[in-house]
Amino acid sequence: MIKPFASSADLGEKRQSLEVLAEGVYALTAEGDPNVGAIEGEDFLVCFEALATPTAAGDWLARLREHTGKPVRYLVLSHYHAVRVLGASAFGADVVVAHDKTRELIAERGEQDWASEYARMPRLFKDPGSIPGLTWPTVTFSDTFTIDLGGGRGDLVLAHCGRGHTEGDLVAWLPDRRILFAGDLVESQAALYTGDAFHREWASGTLDRVASFGAETLVGGRGAVAHGKAEVEAAIAQSRDFLTVMLREVGAASGLKEAFERTHRALRPRYGGWPIFEHCLPFNVSRLWDELHGVERPRVWTAERDREVWDELQS
Ligand SMILES: [Zn+2]
Repeated sequence: MIKPFASSADLGEKRQSLEVLAEGVYALTAEGDPNVGAIEGEDFLVCFEALATPTAAGDWLARLREHTGKPVRYLVLSHYHAVRVLGASAFGADVVVAHDKTRELIAERGEQDWASEYARMPRLFKDPGSIPGLTWPTVTFSDTFTIDLGGGRGDLVLAHCGRGHTEGDLVAWLPDRRILFAGDLVESQAALYTGDAFHREWASGTLDRVASFGAETLVGGRGAVAHGKAEVEAAIAQSRDFLTVMLREVGAASGLKEAFERTHRALRPRYGGWPIFEHCLPFNVSRLWDELHGVERPRVWTAERDREVWDELQS
């Protein structure tokens, strides 16, 4: 059986749900497509993630505008992936915040990542011609960055928890509400993409730091919002388990193809029915194979390399 490349044949619209998590705190989820969020300050908005195109972001903003008309002062980018950043121009934000490494990664591989992600999942790129070019953060940081929301609303703390899904992920934490926007470091009922990851650090210290916030609501990169401590812990545990199984199976294999087959067999019973599982796995195993064989930084994915890896492992 020939599997269509990545998510190139996944063309069905997903249903988007806007949830008000607390007064002035919003999440838009989409049945496994990338999640986004927004937090109201006293007289401004902080938006979290930008989606893949300005047109897609504009649809989200129109829904958000049913709740608040405040201007977007900050657009926060959790990491450099195209489907998270290329819609940025729609927000008209005064400040675009990301981690130091995210800016470096955009400079190093932003163009290739754009081409790669577009070919992998074209459905997310609604009106691709609306993208004006790469998105550049205007403010970056290495450890934490705090935004005073004003008017007794408390702080929004942006924090880097270590290397994980990429070299420069950040999370957004609302201590007063105990709400965490975790980006792609945590997925809730969606498969993990690890093609640009540092699996060993992600599965240990990075997820430990994510868990240490003690969130009571968690918005992951994809999938449903986790409500309550038990669901938050389950989402983090699931993400860690996915990585741990990958590390065990790829580590035990003597070749790349065997690594893929072992990992697929081990993960499928629990995760095979979740969004983008088949799409992600060849890229995930390829990166982890490299990581376990001394390739320190993830190799750049190009549209051509994507096809080679897919044909070798998934066809
Ligand atoms: Zn990502």
